[in-house]
Amino acid sequence: MTYKQKLYIKTFGCQMNVNDSEYIAGQLIKLGYSITKDIFKSNLILLNTCCVRAKVEQKIYSLIGKIKKIKESNPDVLLGICGCMAQKEKENIFERAPYVDFIFNPSQVNNLVKIVNNIVKNDNKKYISCDNAPEFSLNHIPVKRGSKISAWIQIMRGCNNYCSYCVVPYTRGPEQSRGASEILSEAADLVQNKYKEIFLLGQNVNSYGNDLSQPVTFSKLLELLNDIKGIERIRFTTSHPKDFSFDLIETIKNCSKVCNHIHLPIQSGSSKILKMMNRKYDIDYYKNIIKEIRNNIDNIAITTDVMVGFPGETEDDFIDTLRAFKEIKFDEAYTFIYSNRENAIASLLPDQVPLQVKKERLWKLIDLQKEISTKINKKLEGEIVDVLVDKKSKKNIENQFSGRTGTNKTVVFTSKQNLLGQLVNVKIIKSSAWTLYGELIG
Ligand code: SAM
Ligand code: SF4
Repeated sequence: MTYKQKLYIKTFGCQMNVNDSEYIAGQLIKLGYSITKDIFKSNLILLNTCCVRAKVEQKIYSLIGKIKKIKESNPDVLLGICGCMAQKEKENIFERAPYVDFIFNPSQVNNLVKIVNNIVKNDNKKYISCDNAPEFSLNHIPVKRGSKISAWIQIMRGCNNYCSYCVVPYTRGPEQSRGASEILSEAADLVQNKYKEIFLLGQNVNSYGNDLSQPVTFSKLLELLNDIKGIERIRFTTSHPKDFSFDLIETIKNCSKVCNHIHLPIQSGSSKILKMMNRKYDIDYYKNIIKEIRNNIDNIAITTDVMVGFPGETEDDFIDTLRAFKEIKFDEAYTFIYSNRENAIASLLPDQVPLQVKKERLWKLIDLQKEISTKINKKLEGEIVDVLVDKKSKKNIENQFSGRTGTNKTVVFTSKQNLLGQLVNVKIIKSSAWTLYGELIG
């Protein structure tokens, strides 16, 4: 069926959501839709949502409110809400915004064509599809990727960990691994289409394969992907420290295409807070993994996620986090203010930290991390690094390109030749906390 319609899609949240939106776009293009960046020119508006923090959820409800005017001026426009907030809020969305036409959860992304056909055929009927799909497969689902150089591959969905602050296990359901043969065939297709880098996605990639009828470990999956001719780089996220195995350290060391970058969320430097977060490791255990990684893999970059203001976090607990940061020296950190989520059990804990205190802690931590990242990057001045060129200058500066090192650092340089998609050598001449600047070699 061809609708000759226009789709406007807005994505909130993590890389998994961005990749889900690529599948949404791919399926709807196949159905006859074209993509528009102008919401006022669209016939179908889809919001692919996130609800990890309350602020994003408020922002999405406010956008839904604004779309009401578009629906009023053109009742033929369809509005669908998908992603994590759709799963968390379900019918509440219809109650707050009765003009929303349909809702579906993240595991229903590959049923989108059925969902849209159903809506179009059943005029004026609200549609909701929030059951978890029985298995995780993306086989034969059309996808419209945002990059021609680096592609995401979802290797698993959901999470079994129930960190006490997090809504993901409730919104994305239990862990479901995708079969290894499906992943390998997607990687082979990407090579055929000249992709250089694959980026494996999962909430906890280290437990990949545990639920498969023929279990395959994450390390084994990396080895199998490393053997595919034509792939230049393999990245992955996210690793949970409790499942980070020494076997994986060996694999990263031995697989030449697996990048020297590990994202290992610490969340807090206080063992008391980590226990309350239900992270299942303490700070000494975390520090020991870092030590093993650095002892075994040369030139490895380590980045992290951290949260300030978890309920019960005292000044001493926060000092423990600052101390851990000073000691470990992450290359980069994604810093968050704890946000109360009603489904997550931490919202029931006493001693919620006042917002002003949370903000002050956040700024202290950001300042510290900036100082550390600046020092680490400064040491790279004069070094020659491998860069996969993936973007033209954001500021439209002529001949300016940017790319990433294996250690995931952004490098900006100039070239008269279009080098997009190529691996090049760049000599670093200047650095800042978040960016390296260099000259092309050869
Ligand atoms: N699975 C990954 C892990 O184990 O770290 C992370 C996924 S989570 C969607 C991404 C990051 O959001 C987390 O690492 C955490 O720092 C942050 N986050 C999750 N829930 C949060 C909350 N309630 N408030 C603030 N930050 C939160
Ligand atoms: Fe959330 Fe914890 Fe699962 Fe990560 S491991 S998605 S933080 S519950």
